[in-house]
Amino acid sequence: MKKGQTVADLYGSLVFNEKVMQERLPKDVYKAVHETAVTGSHLKLDVANTVASVMKEWAIELGATHFTHWFQPMTGLTAEKHDSFLSPEPDGRILMEFSGKELVKGEPDASSFPSGGLRATFEARGYTAWDPSSPAFIKDGTLYIPTAFISYGGEALDKKTPLLRSIEALNTQAMRMLALLGDSETRHVNTTIGSEQEYFLIDKSLYMKRKDLLLCGRTLIGAPAPKGQEMEDHYFGVLKPKVSAFMHDLDEALWQLSVPAKTKHNEVAPAQHELAPVFETANIAVDHNQLTMEIMKKVADQHGFACLLHEKPFEGINGSGKHNNWSVVTDQGKNLLNPGRHPEDNIKFLVFLTAVIAAVDDYADILRLSVASAGNDHRLGANEAPPAVISVFLGDELAQIVHSLEADEAFEGHGKSQMAGGATVLPHITKDNTDRNRTSPFAFTGNKFEFRMPGSSVSVANANIVLNTAVAEILKQMCDALEGIPEDELESAVHDLTRKTLRDHHRILFNGDGYTDEWIEEAERRGLDNLKSLPAAMPRWISDKCINLFTAHRVLTRDEIFSRYEILLENYNKAIHIESLTMQEMVRKEFDYGMMRYVKDLTKETLQKKAVLGDDVFMPEAKTIARLNEDAAKIAEKLEKLDADTKTAEGIEDAQACADFYEKTVLSDMDALRQVVDAAEMLIPDQYLPYPTYGDMLFSLR
Ligand code: ADP
Ligand code: MG
Repeated sequence: MKKGQTVADLYGSLVFNEKVMQERLPKDVYKAVHETAVTGSHLKLDVANTVASVMKEWAIELGATHFTHWFQPMTGLTAEKHDSFLSPEPDGRILMEFSGKELVKGEPDASSFPSGGLRATFEARGYTAWDPSSPAFIKDGTLYIPTAFISYGGEALDKKTPLLRSIEALNTQAMRMLALLGDSETRHVNTTIGSEQEYFLIDKSLYMKRKDLLLCGRTLIGAPAPKGQEMEDHYFGVLKPKVSAFMHDLDEALWQLSVPAKTKHNEVAPAQHELAPVFETANIAVDHNQLTMEIMKKVADQHGFACLLHEKPFEGINGSGKHNNWSVVTDQGKNLLNPGRHPEDNIKFLVFLTAVIAAVDDYADILRLSVASAGNDHRLGANEAPPAVISVFLGDELAQIVHSLEADEAFEGHGKSQMAGGATVLPHITKDNTDRNRTSPFAFTGNKFEFRMPGSSVSVANANIVLNTAVAEILKQMCDALEGIPEDELESAVHDLTRKTLRDHHRILFNGDGYTDEWIEEAERRGLDNLKSLPAAMPRWISDKCINLFTAHRVLTRDEIFSRYEILLENYNKAIHIESLTMQEMVRKEFDYGMMRYVKDLTKETLQKKAVLGDDVFMPEAKTIARLNEDAAKIAEKLEKLDADTKTAEGIEDAQACADFYEKTVLSDMDALRQVVDAAEMLIPDQYLPYPTYGDMLFSLR
C-alpha cells in the first residue's frame, strides 16, 4: 500500500465494479447491464458499445494497454489471449479502440484446448462470451473480461458455462419450493461459496533443483525428514517473517481485485498455509479462487518462494485441499441454511437441509467424481483429510432434530430449558456445536455445508456444478410431489415428505470419526460407495443416473458429459505418464549418479584404509557399499519394470482401461521403486544427492 492509502482505497481499485459503473455509465445503460448480470437477459449492441467505450477509458486511466477475454477451459486453469486497444490511423496517429462486439464476443482458436471429442462432431472454432455477472478487472496492464467458452454449436468447452447453468437449475427448483412454502418475497436464489485454499511454500532455489516438483508438482522420491508434522507445532504457529511478508503482499494484490482474502494461517504440515476468503456468490467466488491461485504463485515467486498447489506434494505429511463452504441465499439476503433459533420449527431450513442430505446420498458417487484427479487420489482415502467415502455430518443438535423428525416425535432440545408456558428453548445452533468433526467430507457448520474433498489445485467449479444440480433434482422431486396438494393440507404434506425423505437417506448421516477402519466397514454395510480412485469412479460419470441428472436440468448435454469423460481420463493418464517418465529420469540420471559417486568414493577410501591398516580392520564403509550395491540392483530391476509397464500403458487404446492400468500397475511400480530409492537415500550424505532433501524443503524457510 502506498503511504496514506487505506485498505478501503485499495480494495477493488482495479475492478470495474458496481460503483464504477454507477459513476460512469449513463443511467439507462447501467440499468441494462445490471439487469443482464442478474437475470442473464440479452444485451443490445448499442448498450454493449457504450459499456465497452466507458470500460476502455477507465482501463486506460489505470494504465491498461490491452484487453483479454479470460476463460476457464477444461484444463482446470485459466486461459487468456491479449489484444491491444491500438488502432493505427492512416495519418500516423494511434487511436485506442474497444467496441461492444469485442467486449461481448471473442474467437480464440478452440482447437488447442481439450474438448474431449466435441471437436470431432462440432466445429473446431469456439467463442468466448462476456459474463457480465462477474466484474472485469485490470491485471498486469491488461483489462480482463470474464467470459464463458463455448463451441460454435453452443456446447460448453469450459467450467463456467455449466456452473452458471447449475446455479440457474437450482434457482428454478428453489423458487418452486419457496412458492410452495408461501414465500412471495424472494425473486431469485443463488448459492454462496467460500473456498479455503491450502498451499505449501518452499524456497524457490530448492524448487528449481527438483524435476519432480517442476514437472509434476509433487515429489516422486525423497526420504522423510527426521521431523514431520508429529510435533503439531506448525498449525496456527507464529508466521515466519518472510512468509508473513509474502502473505501481506498477497492480501494487497488480492484486495485490489476485490478478492476478499480474510484469514491466513499456518496449516498442520510444515511449510503449509491456508488462505480463506469471505464468501461470495458462486460464480464470482469461483473466478476469485482461480485468481487467488494464480496470484499466490506470482507473489510467491516475487518473494523467492515456490507456491505448491498440488494435492500431495510431499509423502508422509498432509496434502492440501480446498474446503468448499456452500449455502443457498435469496436475493433478499436470507441464508436458507441458517437454522435460526428454532430450527425444529423453521420449515424452509428443514426442507433445504433435507434436500441437501438426500442429494448427497443419491449422488455421492458423482460428487466424489467432481473432485477426482490424479493428484487428489493421493489424499482422499489415504491416511489423512476426508476419506473417499462420502457421508454427512450434522453435529449433535441438528442430528437430534433430524432424528425426532424422522421418528415423528416432538423435539427434546439438547440442553433445553423450559420457559414458563412450556415452550422449548433450543440454544442457537452454534458453530462450536457443529464444527468439531474435522474428519467428515461433508459437514454442516452452523449455517452452511462444508465440502472438504476438493483438491487444492483445481477449480471448485466442478464440485459446485454437481452439488447445485443434485440439490436442484431433489427439490424438483419434492416439488413434484407437493404441487397440486390443497393449501390446507400442504403443511402436513411438507412435514410428511421431509420425514420420509430423511428416513430414506438416513444411511448417509454419520457423526463419528471418518478416519477409522470401523467406519469404512460400517459404510460398506450401509451400502455407501468407497470409490478410492478416479478410474474406479469414472464409469459412474456415464451412468444413466448421471446423464439423466445433468440433461434433465440442462446443465450438461449428453455430448458434453461424454466429452468431459474423455478429458478426465485423458488428463489422468497423461499426469501419471509424465510422473512415470520424470521419476525414471530422476532416478536414472540423478539419483543413481549420486549414489554411484558415493560408492566410488567409499570404495577408494576402503582400499586406502586397507592399505594402511590391513585387511582385518573394522570397515563400516564396506557394509554401506554392500548395502548400496544391493539397493542399486533392486533399483535397476524396479526401474526396468516401471519402464516396461509404462510402455504397455502407452499402447492401451481404451482410455478407461488405460487409466485402470496406470492406477493398478504403473502407480504401484512407482511406489515400489520409491521405497528402495528412499531407503538408499537415507544412507547417502546430502552432498552426494543431486536434489534437495525433504528436510531442506520443509524446514529451511526463515
Ligand atoms: P473454518 O473454521 O472452517 O475456518 P470459518 O467460519 O472461518 O470456518 O469459515 C470458513 C469459510 O466459510 C470462509 O471462507 C467463510 O467466508 C465461509 N462461509 C461463511 N458463511 C458462509 C455461507 N453462508 N456460504 C458460504 N460460505 C460461507
Ligand atoms: Mg474449514
